Amino acid sequence: MKSPQYTREIPQRYRLEAQKCTRCGKIHFPPRLICSACHSRELEAITLPRQGKVLTWTVIHVPPANFSLEAPYIIAIVELEGGARLTCQVVDCDPDELAVDAPVELVFRRIKEDSPADIIQYGYKAVLRRG
Ligand SMILES: [Zn+2]
Repeated sequence: MKSPQYTREIPQRYRLEAQKCTRCGKIHFPPRLICSACHSRELEAITLPRQGKVLTWTVIHVPPANFSLEAPYIIAIVELEGGARLTCQVVDCDPDELAVDAPVELVFRRIKEDSPADIIQYGYKAVLRRG
C-alpha cells in the first residue's frame, strides 16, 4: 500500500524542490502551477538551499493525535537562503537555545509512521548550526 499524498509529495519532501517564477522571481514552496504574485505560468523547478535562519517559533505541548509521542516539540518558521520560507519542526535542541535569526540547516528525519499501512514517512526538519 502506498499513500498517494505521500508519494506525490516525495520530490518536495526529499529534494526540497520548489518553483521559481521566471517573471518576478518569487519562490513557491510547495510548488505551484501559477505564480501567486504575478500570475505567470512561467515557473522553473529549483532546489532550495538547506541553510537558513529561524524567523519565529513556538513550542507545541498539545499536538495532534499522531504526533502525541513527540510532545513537547518546537515548530519554527525558517527562512532559507534566497528567501523561501517554510514551517518545520526543530529537533535536537532546547527552546532556550533558539533565538531570532539563529542559523539552522534542514535535515531529513522520520516524520511519522502511517497506520494502518505502516509507511514510515520521512521529511525535512531543522537543526541548529552550532559554533
Ligand atoms: Zn511571478
